Amino acid sequence: MKPSLVVYWSRRDLRLADNPALCAALEKSKASNIPFLPLFILENYLLEANPHFQFGYPSRWFLANALPKFAEQFKHFLLVKSRAAQYLISLQKSFDLTIFVNDDIYVDFYKQVEKLKAAGVNIEVCTDALSVDKDTRSGEGNKYSVFTPFKKSVWAKFISKRPLPKADLDSVIYLAEEQLSKLPNQLEIKADNLWSLFSKNRLMSYGDAVIDLDELTDKPELAEWYLTEAEALKSFGSFLDSGALDQYSINRDSLELDAELDESGNRPYGGKTSKMSLALAWGLVSARSLVSLIQKHFGEQFDNPFSTRVSAGALIYISELIWREFYRYQLYHQPALLNTEFQKRFQGTINWVDGDTARSRFISWIKGETGYPVVDAAMKQIAKTGWMHNRARMVVASILTKNLGVDWRHGQEYFRATLIDLDEASNNGGWQWGASVGADPKPIRIFNPELQAKNYDKSGAYQELWLGHNNVLRSVAVPIVEHKVARDEALIRYGL
Ligand code: FAD
Repeated sequence: MKPSLVVYWSRRDLRLADNPALCAALEKSKASNIPFLPLFILENYLLEANPHFQFGYPSRWFLANALPKFAEQFKHFLLVKSRAAQYLISLQKSFDLTIFVNDDIYVDFYKQVEKLKAAGVNIEVCTDALSVDKDTRSGEGNKYSVFTPFKKSVWAKFISKRPLPKADLDSVIYLAEEQLSKLPNQLEIKADNLWSLFSKNRLMSYGDAVIDLDELTDKPELAEWYLTEAEALKSFGSFLDSGALDQYSINRDSLELDAELDESGNRPYGGKTSKMSLALAWGLVSARSLVSLIQKHFGEQFDNPFSTRVSAGALIYISELIWREFYRYQLYHQPALLNTEFQKRFQGTINWVDGDTARSRFISWIKGETGYPVVDAAMKQIAKTGWMHNRARMVVASILTKNLGVDWRHGQEYFRATLIDLDEASNNGGWQWGASVGADPKPIRIFNPELQAKNYDKSGAYQELWLGHNNVLRSVAVPIVEHKVARDEALIRYGL
């Protein structure tokens, strides 16, 4: 008879608190006296710069550095290089397995789960990727396609989901070292060693071609980013204690405030937004935990999303977290959105600029050389730090698609290659929003870059920070396409 083994298959959930799969695995292991094995499987797509499945350089850097920190909290942690389903099926040959894994929103994940089930592997998929029900439907039984009704419908559930307590790693029975050492394809879990296995290329696909970002921008500086659950929570605690959340409704859109540093002097921690996107993207914290911390901080449940008696900043912050849920909900139900416009009327109907013009405009945009200073500043920010302020993301997405007439899919691809907080669903939703083809009932928006700079970077501090004092060309910059002309062309391109 094969020995029993409980596996916690860790993916994008590098945390001990509010981790449903980890808690369930430990519970089963402890209740039945079965050895426990925490495991992460490095698949080729995570290691390599594959232009056809973009897992960008900052994401690779983060994984190589954050995974060892997560793993060191366990007495043993197995890291292997393999195809996930293949490895788990091979483990089944030696053990009577029960695998616990947190759910995801991607088709590929469910294909792997089906493969495992078909091979007779006992796998439990725990609900984690969304705090609200993935199958939420309107009163008429339809999937929601507009944010506000979705928000109204899920709000009560979203704010009342209690996070699970921190996993108790005391008195865990781990798989015996002798048995562990026999398992194949193991990698040493040390950041230097791991990073040496990752490709350092920065290739991205551009239609059928490939662009090498090393030829366009320097590699980003990522070393100041937090890497652990504790650091992310500390950072969120400082965000709450600083009063930034109280002011969030007023300050969150400000680019000039984003140019400020906090007292640590480190770049990622300045500004008036929480910088929790990276923590959420890799599961260092859950959205449920953030909501619970906000509730504790204010001593308030926030039952009513429209109340005027509670902190407006907190209500808007919770709404932003629900935007994240909304985009995940959309991509879960429509995986084709990664390549297709949400709005049917725009599917295949927009005459994007193409050929050499499109390529050269796209490259100017990447290099921060469009001649629109606020856009160029934002493009320098993402290239240097792997992160960009939300207002700036909206502006650069609008300018690339409307003013430069470049297909939003290329912008989405560039962000996939360069964001450290890459979340496919939010990225896709953001790009579709920016291109005015997404789940958004508003008519086409064409941002005027000068007005955006005036409204959100009044002092010019953001542009000055990223472009340098001498290069703030606000008075002399010549945009590669003049805004008024671009606007008229965009309306024609969109058939309006
Ligand atoms: P805060 O302002 O502190 O917000 C708190 C949290 O709310 C964020 O961490 C995020 O989880 C969520 N949130 C805030 N704004 C949005 C939004 N517009 N859509 C969805 N969730 C939101 N966010 C990502 O996490 N990953 C991405 O890959 C990503 N790509 C984007 C691409 C485009 C073109 C656009 C317009 C937006 C994108 N966003 C993405 C959303 C948003 O820009 C970031 O979540 C936000 O800037 C992260 O900074 P923060 O954590 O300081 O945000």
